[in-house]
This record gives sequence, C-alpha cells and structure tokens, in this order.
Amino acid sequence: MTDGPSYGFDTLQIHAGARPDPATGARNTPIYQTTAYVFRDAEHAAALFNLQEVGYIYSRLTNPTVAVLQERIATLEGGVGAVCCSSGHAAQIMALFPLMQPGMNVVASTRLYGGTITQFSQTIKRFGWEAKFVDFDDEDAVKAAIDDNTRAVFCEAIANPGGYITDLDAISAISDAVGIPLIVDNTSATPYLCRPIEHGATLVVHSTTKYLTGNGTVTGGCVVDSGKFDWTASDKFPSLSAPEPAYHGLKFAETFGPLAYTFHGIAIGLRDLGMTMNPQAAHYTLMGVETLSLRMQRHVENAQAVASWLEKNEHVEYVTYAGLESSPYNHRVEKICPKGAGGLFTFALKAGYEGCIKLVNSLEIFSHVANLGDTRSLVIHSASTTHRQLSPEQQEAAGAGPNVVRISIGIENAEDLIADLDQAIKTVSA
Ligand SMILES: *Cc1c(COP(=O)(O)O)cnc(C)c1O
Repeated sequence: MTDGPSYGFDTLQIHAGARPDPATGARNTPIYQTTAYVFRDAEHAAALFNLQEVGYIYSRLTNPTVAVLQERIATLEGGVGAVCCSSGHAAQIMALFPLMQPGMNVVASTRLYGGTITQFSQTIKRFGWEAKFVDFDDEDAVKAAIDDNTRAVFCEAIANPGGYITDLDAISAISDAVGIPLIVDNTSATPYLCRPIEHGATLVVHSTTKYLTGNGTVTGGCVVDSGKFDWTASDKFPSLSAPEPAYHGLKFAETFGPLAYTFHGIAIGLRDLGMTMNPQAAHYTLMGVETLSLRMQRHVENAQAVASWLEKNEHVEYVTYAGLESSPYNHRVEKICPKGAGGLFTFALKAGYEGCIKLVNSLEIFSHVANLGDTRSLVIHSASTTHRQLSPEQQEAAGAGPNVVRISIGIENAEDLIADLDQAIKTVSA
C-alpha cells in the first residue's frame, strides 16, 4: 500500500511498510532467512559500502523482513525511521550510544523497569557513562540534575511496574530548553495508547518482547527517531554532526538530514555493536503488531475491571492503576494516554511479603513469570524477583515494595481473572 497520512491506526498496524513480495507476490511478508545479498556488480557493492546507495549488504545491518517491522513501528509512532534490535535492553544501549561518550550522563526517572535501573546504575558505568536518577514529578529536580555533560533525558510513558504516568509535555519542555534529546520507553503504553513524539520525545524505545509481539514468543527491541532533533545545534553530539572517520569523513546530520540518527543506528550501531534483530523474530512481531489495537483495548478494559474489583477488596491495601479515580496519575490519562492507562499495575497486600509469596503460588490462570504484555495474564512479586537487586529505597522509589505484587492483565475473560484472584486472596488470608 502507499502510506497515506490519512490512514487510521488499525489500517497502518496491518499494512505500513509492507507490500506484496516483488519476486513472488506473497501477500504476507516473507521471512528473508539469509545472511547476505548478491551485489549487482562491484560498483554497486562499493556504493552500498560508502552509504551512497541504500540496499542490503549483510543481515547484521539490514534485512528485508526486519525492515518492514522497522517501518511499521516508525509509522505507528509517527517517527521518520526505526532500528530494530535483539531485545529491549539492546535498544536502550543502541539509543544512548550515538549520544554518549565517556564522562557523559543520562538523567533518568526513578520509576523504570527494574532491569533498566540495573543497566543504567551499574552496567553503563563500564562505558564511562553515568545515570542520574531523579523523581520526574519534581520538575525542578529534573532541571537541576541536567548539567553540561548530560546527553539524554530518559523516562517511561506509563512506568513499569507502578502504573505511573509521566507528564511527557512537561519533561520535553525541560529537555528542549537545554537542547538535550528526550528518550521515552513506550513499552508499557504502546503507540496505540500513547504517542510520545506528539508530546515532544526525540526518540522512542521499545521492548517489542512485550505488547508489540503480544504473545510471549520472541525478544526484541526498537529505537524510533522522531527526526526532529537538530544534532548540529551544539557541539554536544559529534557522532551525528562531526566527520565520521569510518566513512571517509561523512557527516551523518549533513548527509542524511532527519534520517541521520536512524542511518547512524544501522551504519555504526548495528555494524559495530551487532545487537541485531533476526528475521524470525521480526516475523513473529509483525504478526503481533497486526492486532495491537484490538488487544490493547481488551487489556485496558480488563485491567480497569480487575483494578476496580481489587480496590474494593478488604485484604488489599492499595491498587496503583492510573485508570482508577483514586490514582494520583488519573488526571494524566486524558492528556498522555487517552485510550486508557494500559494493562499493567501493582497492588499491595495487607498480608505483606509472605502473603505475596503465597498469592503467586495460589493463582491458577495468572502465570508467575518475569514478563509482561502477553495475551496471558501474568503476575510477579517484584521484590523477590525483578527488583531484588535493588536497595530497599530503590524498590520503594520504583513502586516495588515488599508487599507489592505486579500484574500484567491479559485478554482472557475479566470474570475469570477476578475469580482467580478472589480464590488466591482467600487462600492467603485463610
Ligand atoms: C521488558 C522491558 C525492557 C527490557 O526489554 P527486553 O526485551 O526484556 O530486553 C525495557 N523496558 C521496559 C518498560 C520493559 O518492560
């Protein structure tokens, strides 16, 4: 199809980036299970290697199946381009890599996926990068944390695990004022519920492992570029603005304009870091994306029903779902994610740490796994699993205290999910 800007989300999630296979007419996107591509002749090969012509060289860099997914996600997010990666964590490193250098820092929200907090607070130090964590509800604290060495601001749209919604407009106003890109992890919201670029995000990252694939089959990640950031406005981003020695002094910003960041992600990022998505994974994720809006509608409907039920349960201390009127973030739903607050939230049991352990052992429909965004309902006790590497202070700040259980509401019948929670909570309090 020709990608008209007037097509709706449901149409784009099925068609954007795809066309019948030119060789066979295959209607579904074939899995191009190949590592290499035959050059027309030696001149063609040279032009490809010089980035003078766009085409396929080797599947560490580009692959036709992965390319369809890249275009699909970029379109749904309203970006100009995207680079898919082997996992969400790979996407985060890939997103930061063109921006950072030793001694530089990223200002990040305290409310992030547990693995991201570990990646940012520990592992990136080995690259000489630093993360400064601040409460993104405190705009003055965000401003104060940004210094001359800050190269990115990072947050999640709907933050995992607590259902916290970031005021993306307020944060992007701060990062814009100092000429620093805002990176938004949109994994929990998906572009169906939230479009961070419309709220000022420069880059959007995804763990496609979650809702985009939707059925818990493959890991993957994606970095989407808004194409809106001027990399030449300061000398802070030499990877994009200054001559690149590995490509005969080519300047990405000058040569590729709004696509500079995407081209850099492929020509330098994937080439040298090699965190490539394989075509099989892209195939599964393309199938998932086709039904994204339908699944998200049901995830939201079910989450709303289950959260409302839990909130009224006498054994439950509190529920953090932003779709509930009792949530301090309820007023942000309308502005940031008007189609709903997602399918992920936490609740606290009066029975504490031991009660939570008993609960996860007693649930039958809910699977106890370290994943989210599956068609199946999932549960995890963050303090004893995903967040166990964190200090008690970090756990509390991330909304993952000892008596807190995180649930990812699937697309089963809401009544069955409620009945399952009911029997498990009764077991805990018996
Ligand atoms: C899962 C997740 C990640 C990490 O993604 P992987 O695909 O597991 O590497 C990052 N951010 C969020 C919000 C996630 O849920």
